[in-house]
Amino acid sequence: MQKKESLAEAQAWMIKNQLKRRGIKDKRVLKAMQQTPRHLFVPPDLEEAAYDDTPLSIGHNQTISQPYIVAYMTEALELSPDNQTKVLEIGTGSGYQAAILSCLVAKVYTVERIAALAESAQTVFQRLELKNIEVKVGDGGYGWPEHAPYDAIITTAAAPDVPPPLIDQLADGGILVAPIGTRQVQQLVRLQRQGDEIIRKYLFHVTFVPFLGEHGWREEDYF
Ligand code: SAH
Repeated sequence: MQKKESLAEAQAWMIKNQLKRRGIKDKRVLKAMQQTPRHLFVPPDLEEAAYDDTPLSIGHNQTISQPYIVAYMTEALELSPDNQTKVLEIGTGSGYQAAILSCLVAKVYTVERIAALAESAQTVFQRLELKNIEVKVGDGGYGWPEHAPYDAIITTAAAPDVPPPLIDQLADGGILVAPIGTRQVQQLVRLQRQGDEIIRKYLFHVTFVPFLGEHGWREEDYF
């Protein structure tokens, strides 16, 4: 079988068995996962594993999340299809999560602390002509105040708790989804702002790479 065909088949299998069968229902999220070539976001030697039911290494001690987790977190953000919606992502990594978000909202802002990852993600965004994603290199624990408030915020690295600047940058009614917990085990948490009140709901256990920096873990303690 041609490589291209087998990748397309693997992608169709992923949508059906990893996403739909496990309860991902949002048609817009499923469509975004269908139209985004995940194999372009992994290192060439892992291309054939791109649609497997697992996170994969993307170098620099980092990983691209498992497809189901990407779909679940995206669905949990309850993104509105209007042409104003703005999302902030912390932890660009491969750029895959940002690419999925870019299919669903007007504008995606994403922050990555490792410049080489930010650069290679941008190369893939250009190749796919995803023009509504802006990438910044820096400590995402401070968010990206210039473009706040955001209708949704997602972090894809795990901190002891949600960095307060991110909560400050969440719009009224906006939803934030993040993995938080200890270094070994974390939970996905969903926060929703209702005026000055923040409603917190725990979803399920997950394992993510560490959120490093001012509001996360200290690098020297971690590695
Ligand atoms: N969303 C990514 C997942 C990448 S893994 C994807 O779809 O591939 C998490 C990423 O968070 C890593 O690239 C890591 O470097 C980054 N990260 C960790 N702490 C960070 C911080 N304080 N600010 C910005 N990025 C951070």
